[in-house]
Amino acid sequence: MDPTVTMDQPSEVWGRARRALDGLPDGRGLNIAHEAVDRHLGTDREHRVAIRWLGVRGAREDLTYGDLAERTSRFANVLQDLGVGAGDPVFALSGRTPLLYVAALGTLKHRAVFSPLFAAFGPEPVRTRLRIGRGRVLVTTEAQYRRKVAGLRGDLPDLEHVLLVDVAADAAPEGTRSLPALLDAARSTYEIGPTDPEDPALLHFTSGTTGTPKGAVHVHEAVVAHHATGRLALDLRDGDVFWCTADPGWVTGTSYGIISPLTHGATLVVDEGEFEAERWYGILRDQAVDVWYTAPTAVRMLMRAGADLAPREDLGRLRFVASVGEPLHAEAVAWGRDALGTPIHDNWWQTETGGIMVANGPGQQIRPGSMGRPLPGVDAAVLALDDHGELRRDGAGELVRCDPDETGELALRAGWPSMFRGYLDQDERYARCFADGWYRSGDLVRQDADGYVWFVGRGDDVIKSAGHLIGPFEVEKVLLEHPAVVEAGVIGVPDPVAGEVVQAFVSLAEGRHPSDELRRELLGHARGRLGPAVAPRTIGFDQDLPKTRSGKIMRRLLRARVLGLDEGDTSTLEVAR
Ligand code: ATP
Ligand code: MG
Repeated sequence: MDPTVTMDQPSEVWGRARRALDGLPDGRGLNIAHEAVDRHLGTDREHRVAIRWLGVRGAREDLTYGDLAERTSRFANVLQDLGVGAGDPVFALSGRTPLLYVAALGTLKHRAVFSPLFAAFGPEPVRTRLRIGRGRVLVTTEAQYRRKVAGLRGDLPDLEHVLLVDVAADAAPEGTRSLPALLDAARSTYEIGPTDPEDPALLHFTSGTTGTPKGAVHVHEAVVAHHATGRLALDLRDGDVFWCTADPGWVTGTSYGIISPLTHGATLVVDEGEFEAERWYGILRDQAVDVWYTAPTAVRMLMRAGADLAPREDLGRLRFVASVGEPLHAEAVAWGRDALGTPIHDNWWQTETGGIMVANGPGQQIRPGSMGRPLPGVDAAVLALDDHGELRRDGAGELVRCDPDETGELALRAGWPSMFRGYLDQDERYARCFADGWYRSGDLVRQDADGYVWFVGRGDDVIKSAGHLIGPFEVEKVLLEHPAVVEAGVIGVPDPVAGEVVQAFVSLAEGRHPSDELRRELLGHARGRLGPAVAPRTIGFDQDLPKTRSGKIMRRLLRARVLGLDEGDTSTLEVAR
């Protein structure tokens, strides 16, 4: 094993990262917004572009670190003037516009709790999240407000202030205020109050892939992990141009789409638009992006669009590309090398972990198809499970760790800085995530003898067939090897003999069409690679596999549809465009 992985005590790695940050002046604590923005004032970063915003219709706006400091101070003063206090929940429901970023960081300056909602949510998911999060302030657009919130005000007793980002003072509908007008009238300096590293800072809802989304609470100390992992997992350096394609409505879009790169003095590219292959390649080229953080779904869509679109020779600046959220199959890693000039580095984490925990980091050999190794500072283990999915204990009552290459549950030694500090209103559920000081991720993995972690599947998605435990990804990755297949979703369906049998759904590459012949070919390929016990019994063709809006295949929905069951919470379901 690489000595850098085991040399330091975890606390030493985080301690070093903490010392690389400033802390508030006069020992007043640690505040995310200070580390991301204010501490750069008076350095040569002050005049550097912090956020380069690209509008859908070709507009562009640059905010320097100095501009961002001023605007976030104004926003913090607006909250102050409205009587919003430390710890109060401030929600945002807006597309990716500069004011969304100002609101996020201004909220953190004021020590209120920021909770970003994905702008494409319908009224119901917005209502439930505002309700359970007891949102006191909502930053949104006029159209979003009218469509999704205005009719619900009576049902949202905690919601006192609605600040609209796109109306003038005299045009704000009843019950709302114009944010630009409030910002203009507010003072341009703000002194961040004492911030305990344990003060709540962010409330993020999970993707809802396995059920109703949970609200995970994060604290200001998380910035230590955001900063450290930006370097360790994404190779972020001072002055880099960095593009994270995730929306701040998902934890990736905040931890790495806002906080981490700003703590490194990077220039953040913010694209208002959604995925479009040519536009995205254009951004990588024209903005001379150094480091790119995206998702397997996007990579697969680029692969589907064909490598000839990629402006490979104009991507000379692109130094590091990483992906998160779903398994990244080995072919995608190699595709990156050919099409982008750099392989794609998969990494793993969750809303609950607040930051990257396992990664194919810079300067390490990538093992294509693996999520990489636990980062320095992260103490990870693969815990053995019994037949019921419970943690196994030895005779002395100690948890049993898996041997190399044996499948178990990925667990992290509790106490890293960006660990969630609770699920909103679900204390018991939070408590159930921990055993003997370990946080249980709910994901099944194998770790090889060199420490690389291989994703097997979510605990909830695992298939039990004729005595075998089958992880969906084991089957999906074999299907993805076939050039006709771009996406695959694998589920177990009940079977009187085997308990469950494997059923697969695939979406096809450009120019490939469903046929019995192709189905036979895919089944043959899967049987040849996996053996008849693990290979899918049937394969269906589906160009629109159900996915969350953050790009994860919703296997529980595939299953519910096949079995005619209730679909459960679909608030985060991506609706086919
Ligand atoms: P919910 O908890 O509501 O079901 P979710 O788990 O999808 O939703 P997130 O926190 O956004 O919500 O996603 C984290 C999960 O995504 C991980 O637990 C894991 O299952 C999956 N994941 C993240 N990165 C990877 C990766 N590199 N490879 C495989 N799976 C990944
Ligand atoms: Mg989860």
